[in-house]
Formats: sequence, structure tokens, C-alpha cells
Amino acid sequence: MAGPHATFPTDSAGNFDDEALTFGAGSQRCRVLLPLPLAGPYDYLAPEGTALAPGDLVCVPLGRRESVGVVWDPNDQDEGKELPVDRLKFVKSRIDLPPMTSDQRRFVDWVAAYTLTAPGAVLKMALSSAQALEPPPTRPVYRLVQQGVTQPSVGEVKLTPARRRVMAVAADGMARSAADLAREAAVGTGVVKGLAAAGLLERLELPTRMEIAAPDSARQGPVLSKAQGEAAAALRAMVDGKDFAVSLLDGVTGSGKTEVYMEAVVATLAAGRQVLVMLPEIALSVQVLERFEARFGAPPATWHSDMTQAQRRDTWRAVAYGEARVIVGARSALYLPFKELGLIVVDEEHEQAFKQEDGVAYHARDMAVVRANIGRFPALLVSATPSLESVFNVQQGRYTELRLPARHGGASLPEVEAVDLRRDKPERIPELGAGWLSPPLRRALAETLDRGEQALLFLNRRGYAPLTLCRACNHRLECPNCTALLVEHRLSDRLVCHHCGFALRRPTNCPACGEADTLIAWGPGVERVAEEAAYLFPEARRSVLSSDTIYGPKAAAEFVRRVQEHEIDLLIGTQIVAKGHHFPQLTLVGVVDADLGLSGGDLRGVERTYQLLHQVSGRAGRESKPGRVLIQTHEPDHPVIEALVSGDRDRFFAAEAESRRDLMMPPFGRLAAVILSSGDLQAVEEAARALARVAPKAEGIQILGPSTPPLAALRGRHRRRFLVKTPRDQRPQSYLRDWLGRIKLPNRVRLQVDIDPYSFL
Ligand code: ADP
Ligand code: ZN
Repeated sequence: MAGPHATFPTDSAGNFDDEALTFGAGSQRCRVLLPLPLAGPYDYLAPEGTALAPGDLVCVPLGRRESVGVVWDPNDQDEGKELPVDRLKFVKSRIDLPPMTSDQRRFVDWVAAYTLTAPGAVLKMALSSAQALEPPPTRPVYRLVQQGVTQPSVGEVKLTPARRRVMAVAADGMARSAADLAREAAVGTGVVKGLAAAGLLERLELPTRMEIAAPDSARQGPVLSKAQGEAAAALRAMVDGKDFAVSLLDGVTGSGKTEVYMEAVVATLAAGRQVLVMLPEIALSVQVLERFEARFGAPPATWHSDMTQAQRRDTWRAVAYGEARVIVGARSALYLPFKELGLIVVDEEHEQAFKQEDGVAYHARDMAVVRANIGRFPALLVSATPSLESVFNVQQGRYTELRLPARHGGASLPEVEAVDLRRDKPERIPELGAGWLSPPLRRALAETLDRGEQALLFLNRRGYAPLTLCRACNHRLECPNCTALLVEHRLSDRLVCHHCGFALRRPTNCPACGEADTLIAWGPGVERVAEEAAYLFPEARRSVLSSDTIYGPKAAAEFVRRVQEHEIDLLIGTQIVAKGHHFPQLTLVGVVDADLGLSGGDLRGVERTYQLLHQVSGRAGRESKPGRVLIQTHEPDHPVIEALVSGDRDRFFAAEAESRRDLMMPPFGRLAAVILSSGDLQAVEEAARALARVAPKAEGIQILGPSTPPLAALRGRHRRRFLVKTPRDQRPQSYLRDWLGRIKLPNRVRLQVDIDPYSFL
């Protein structure tokens, strides 16, 4: 490194050459947070004369590489602990993008502290498009050489008729791509380039920007019903309050919740602020996107995992510059660089898809509320079956409840009946073996199809059969990497692990006893139900819908179109078809196995089963034709089934809440999971024992474990888990920080913390 008083060589772009320079007296120390799992921001020096402010995006040297980062806020606590100035490196350049707002910086810090992850790991989610941080791409355009520039006069250049036509088009002075110019003049692009070479046209590089049509918030929505109008007025008042507030919009499926929350969107747009609408499965939510477009005359910007790099780049930048006003996105959209966010809507707020399990484990609904609190603007949670957490927050007076009690336009809620499988047993089908559709369900299907209406058979299980078993030795085919059964998929002719993707062709001999042709499929998945439906209703046009057959927005849009245009009579699907869709001709829903989620020790299993079955029931009879729902179950007296049949959701929720309160489980207490994993079984067991030994005693805090979770191995790693349970008024984070800080685990053991866990596998 050069001496302490070297000058600052800069290149013409104002970038500093790090190798050749060092600090001067006027250089200002700044903290830069890097999108890496480091303990905190690193110190750098801003070169003399360059003022860097918190939020600025910068490029800094990091080891032998470079990294982007964000100038972070100064921290008094660091004083005295800083590296000496002569050990610091210089910030290389400031990136020409709007700075990260202070709200967003506080949000990053908050999420990191809450989830016990490195702030840089959260920042990485906020800088989710590497390309967006690079200079925007440009495209060449051509226009008539401007006045005042020395140019050959037209007379000096030989003008063919083709060249003349180009010059005539270009006479308006507008810049066009060579292709556009050539097309308008009916010539080849060579003619355009020739004119540029001759000096009559000039070539410019224009930054490409995504065309974003502005939503028109003055457009009229539908005339709202009285209940809708009241809810909409309350939401508008909330938006006009320009302060933090949370509302829960609770209304049965088809009650017009979407129309109502559009009014809050309108009010926010009119106030000049951006809106984020979060959906659990945006790639499948074609109909919602279409409704936004119809309502605002322009499609919303979207943000989800199924986007190209270029789409990510353009959308990220459009959000940062405030050009995108309405963003409809998955949970990761929370971390977009909003310039002036004024409302977050969380649609289907009860959905578990909002919980991210990998990497930074967070619940996007909860973080949306935090984001709104930091930004002092409202959040709106929407559901027909709100989570117990949100209902509890309403009861505590933290959230305001808005209810829409009836379906829009007089459509009635479907008639829900339980089919007792112990009595109405599905018949065996000689050609296929076991059957899964009971006589009452078969009859209902026949009647519906005869009337020319559509029916949906719902089973939340992908593939053909969840288990492949040897008749001779009872061996079950399991994944070699996970503690999980292999699921047979006939459409793709594979046995597949749904946890790690391991797949193999179905063997003809049992891998354990070697007998031939003894492997049998046990239990149904959607493919197997479809097989039975094909046998029973050969005339019906059928379609199997699961994440295996519908992948991404295009396939989802095509599916919606085919159902709407009645190209399909009978849908057989997983939860992918349960949600959100509005199909007026669909009048029968058959739930093939309602008991699927009811057993098993999952804290929210019962709640989730209710929500899912209620959602899928809500697909039936959404307009003038009445709907009917048949729920096949072995436990017709189960509170979930009774609540679905009677429609008495509130009583069921109250009972469910009581049982959680008794156990001090969320939302009445708090949970955190600590998961250890390693390829080495002994190492993970030792680590679990060591961690258990150093757990500090603390009043009111319970440590459960170490235990072996149901997924004892996942992707080849053995797993052990602790659960930390605290009273509601005591956050587990500080306890965990203390506990986990007491021990250094070997590198081959990975430790993950999951605050408010939703998965207990
Ligand atoms: P939810 O979101 O509660 O399931 P939707 O907003 O999807 O309900 O409304 C159900 C159907 O009723 C949709 O087709 C919607 O366009 C229509 N709808 C709701 N409210 C109105 C209204 N006030 N005027 C006209 N159509 C409406
Ligand atoms: Zn596996």
C-alpha cells in the first residue's frame, strides 16, 4: 500500500483505483453492509470529496474480488472498536441507483434480528437481482443527425430511392431501431446502417427500460354491495390515515373480498404511493392478475421465482425508481426496493406458502406487518379462513376486523355433506383393484356430468400412489437420502422422493427379497383417482392437475382457460386447484380423503385441514348454479368435518384456540426450532448432546429435545431438533443468542434456527 498522503487518482467516471491509493485526512469512514452472511457491516473509506450517505449502493473491494453493498447507518456502539484507518480500503464507486430507503434498511436489520440471521443474508434478498445493479443495458437507435453538427449535406451523398425513403421516415427526428426504421421505409437494415456510415443518420445508445403502463386509479370499479361498501370505506379511511394499522378482511369465498381490497389499492395509488399485493402462489394466480388489469387498465408488475433474469432486473429497477406502482408478488417481493410504499395486502393470509423455510426462515405475512409498521402505513390481511394468529390479534385489539358475510350477487354457499367411508365403502373395481370413490360420490358425479356441469375431485397427494410395497416381504421403497417413502408417478414412470427429488424407475423385482412382480401400489394419489374416474366416466373430458402437470404461469393460464371454456368436465387435482379460481360451471366438489391432514402431530394440522377443505369447497357453485360438496372421511364426527358441514367456523376456531391455549402453543406462546444436521450421524448426535448440556436455565422457558424429527434424514443429512417454548410476552431470540453463543459446533454440523416454525417434519 502507498504512503498515508498519496493523492487520489480517479478515472474519468469518478471511480477510484484502489490499488494505487490510500486514505487522506478528509476521507470519511463508512459502514457498508455486504450481501453475505457476515456478522455485520464492514468499514470502508469514502474517498475524499465523495459524499456517501446511508442507503447509497456502492461497489467495494472484498479480498481479491469486488462486491456490491449498501452504506449502512453509523453505529455508536462500534466507537472505539473500529479498525485503524490505515487498514481500511476505499469504496470503489457509487452505483447510480436510488439509495435504499431508511425504512428498508431498518427492515433488513429488523428481520435479521428477529430471525437470528446475519443482516447480510437478509440484504441478499433485498439485492435479489444482480443485473439490476449493473448499468442498464442499452440498445442502438438511429435518428437524423441533429442541427449544428457538422454533417455532409444531403447533396454530397448519393441517395438511392431506398435511402430516400429512409430519410423521409427519419425526417421527424425521432430515434428508431434499425429494424423499425427499415420496416417503416420498406428497406433492409443495411440501408439504415449505410446512411449512418455516410453521416446522415446518427447512432445513439438508449438505455432500455421496461415499459410500465401506469395503472389508472380513476377507473370505476363495480357497484359495491352494502357490506362491501362499508368495508371499502373503512379501508379507504385506513389508507387516508397514512399511519400504521392492520385490518383483517374476513369473508366467505366468493364474497367479493378482492373487489373490496382493490378499493384500498385505488386509494393508495391516488395518494401517490406504491402498493404491494402478496399472493401465496402468484405463478398460478392468473385470474387475479387479469382482474387487476381489468380494474386498472394496465397489468401489475409481478415478482415471483418463475421470472427470467431480464424480467427481474427490469422489475427491480422499476420498483426502485417508482415506475412500478402496483406489484403483485410472492413473499420475496417484500424485499423489493420500494421508493414510496404505502400499502401491503396479504391475500390468503392463512397460507403456509408465506412461510419460508430455507435460508432466512421468515413468515412473509408477519414480516409484512413489520414492514408496514416501520413505514407507518397500513397492512391488510385477507382470507376466508384466517389463521388463528390473525384471529387472536383481532381479539387482542391489535387488528381491525372487517367482515363480508355473504357471497356476492346472492350466490349461495355450497351444500356440504360428509360421506362416512366406514358405511359407504368404495367398491373394488375388478380391472383396477381398490376403488376410492364411494357410491354417493359416484352418483353425484354422474348427475353433475349428466347436467353438463363441471366437477372437481380433490386429493392433496401428487402422483399415483404414496407407497410401493412388496407383497412377499412387506418391504417399502424408501429414499436413500431421506427418511421418506418413494411416491409412484405413473405419468412420468418413476418412483420419486418429494423431499430431495431422488427418482428411479419402478423395479420389476423387490430390491429386498428379489421376488419378481410382487411390488404393489398402496393408497391413492391424484393419478390413481384419475384412473378410476376414467374407468367410471369414460365420456367425461378429464384433466389431472398438480404441480407435476401445471408448472408456471403459462401452464396455469392455459388450465384456467380450458376450464372456463368448458373443455374439461372433470378436474382431478391437488391443492393447486383448491384456491382462488372462479369457475361458474363447477358445481360439485368431491374430497377424496379428508382425513389426510388430521392425524400426525403437526401443531397446525387440524387448522390447515379446515382451511384447505374450506377453500376447495369454495370452488363449488360460485354463481347462479348451486354447489354441492361431498367429503369422504372415516371420522365424520371430527370437529373439522363437523365445522365444514355445519358452516360454523367460529365455534371450531374457538375450540381449536382453547386447545392451543391449554398447551401454551402459538399464538398463546412462542416457539423456535433449532435444527442440527450433518452427513455424519455421530457428529450430529454429539452436537445435540453438547448443545443440550449448555442450555441455560431460564424462568418460563422450556427446551424440548433433542429429538429425532420425522424426517430423520434429509438430502443425505441426519437431523436432530430442539424446540424452545416461551410465554407470549417473552421473545425467544435473546435466550437463543445466549444459548447458541455458548458453544462452537464443528464445521460439519449445520445449525439452523427457525423462529415461529410451521413445519415440524
Ligand atoms: P373473494 O375474493 O371473496 O373470493 P371475489 O372478489 O373473487 O370474491 O368475488 C367473487 C365474484 O363476484 C367475482 O367474479 C367478482 O368479480 C364478483 N363480484 C364481487 N363483488 C362484485 C360487485 N360488487 N359487483 C360485481 N361483481 C362482483
Ligand atoms: Zn429424498
